[in-house]
Amino acid sequence: MSIEAFDVEKVRKDFPILQQTVNGAPLVYLDNAATTQKPNAVIDAISHYYRHDNSNVHRGAHTLADRATAAFEGARQKVASFINAQTTDQVIWTRGTTEAINLVAASWGRQQLKQGDRILVSAMEHHSNIVPWQMVAQACGATVEAIPVDSSGTIDLKAYTELLDEHVRLVAVGHVSNALGSVNPVIEITRLAHEAGALVLVDGAQAVGHWPVDVQSLGCDFYVFSAHKLFGPTGVGVLYGKRDLLEAMPPYQGGGEMIESVSFKGTTYNKLPYKFEAGTPDIAGVIGLGAAVDYLNAMDRAGAARHEQALLEYAQKKAQGVSGLRVIGTASHKASVLSFVLDGVHPADLGTLMDQQGIAVRTGNHCAQPIMDQYGIPGTVRASFSFYNTFEEVDRLFAALEKAKQFLM
Ligand code: PMP
Repeated sequence: MSIEAFDVEKVRKDFPILQQTVNGAPLVYLDNAATTQKPNAVIDAISHYYRHDNSNVHRGAHTLADRATAAFEGARQKVASFINAQTTDQVIWTRGTTEAINLVAASWGRQQLKQGDRILVSAMEHHSNIVPWQMVAQACGATVEAIPVDSSGTIDLKAYTELLDEHVRLVAVGHVSNALGSVNPVIEITRLAHEAGALVLVDGAQAVGHWPVDVQSLGCDFYVFSAHKLFGPTGVGVLYGKRDLLEAMPPYQGGGEMIESVSFKGTTYNKLPYKFEAGTPDIAGVIGLGAAVDYLNAMDRAGAARHEQALLEYAQKKAQGVSGLRVIGTASHKASVLSFVLDGVHPADLGTLMDQQGIAVRTGNHCAQPIMDQYGIPGTVRASFSFYNTFEEVDRLFAALEKAKQFLM
């Protein structure tokens, strides 16, 4: 069976933002690890909701409330089957990856952690998957330790195994590093953690936009991600958890929706997932995420993933030809992220000169200061590719880089 080529030009037509010039040049958007662009289907779903169905969910006794609730809960079902959750009520809406991790840290962590307990996070984690654990560890007398990462940006599994003992209660690790692009062996990491009696939270922020994720085959206890890195809107994220864990965890915030009954004698809490969803949620955002899931389900995701890998390989090859350029993150299994530094040039200066040529890249420490410290650099320039990027755009990136180099050196 021949594999059909991925039709990137057709896909690009779904993303109106890409059809513009920036600083006099056609936009080349290579900041997908920070946030992805939104297809018409998502923009239209949000607009339709506000134009026709806007109402608060669950409590209403009128048609708009019923429509809003059906769309809102329908999105939960879509997301549950998208990640292959066992049941729909294991999908909890949050504001994003960051809030989902804070929810687990505040709820599970404060209930479970005690003096002497240990939490392991990889040395390449995003600050969102470090700081919430440090905060709860400090409150409970636990410690947070780094799983070593080698100079290619690969987790040292031997060192990880040696760190595991009966005091490790949780391992929190990114599925894909936003700073380096490394794809971490989360199935293996989870298996080893479980053997040691620890739970596993996987930060999937950088994975879900690149390939289908199946939480059951990963085997992790918690999986978290943000809609905005999955072609959906900002302001919405997902916490998936194993049912028995979620059932046993106390609420994260108090307020409307998360209660069963309230009295001054005592309050009882709602069932899953509402126990963790205090207050009016981002209804339009959730519906937008549902539309993003529909969009992805209807596309050739295997073709998209192959296209992204081809872009990465092409860019990595081109990078080899640039004198003074050093790629940061050379793991053998990478998502489509090219992080690099250029001898004698500050990443921020390079970013500005690229922007003047219509190229959007991100510069800085990418909220991953510990791994930047390990490399002994303040930050990198990061080009992160999505399926709507083209080989011509990679050419434009490197042409712009050469031009910027001439200016700076
Ligand atoms: N983890 C990783 C790996 C990320 O890349 C990001 C976003 N850069 C986050 C967590 C935080 O996501 P959000 O800001 O959407 O909560």
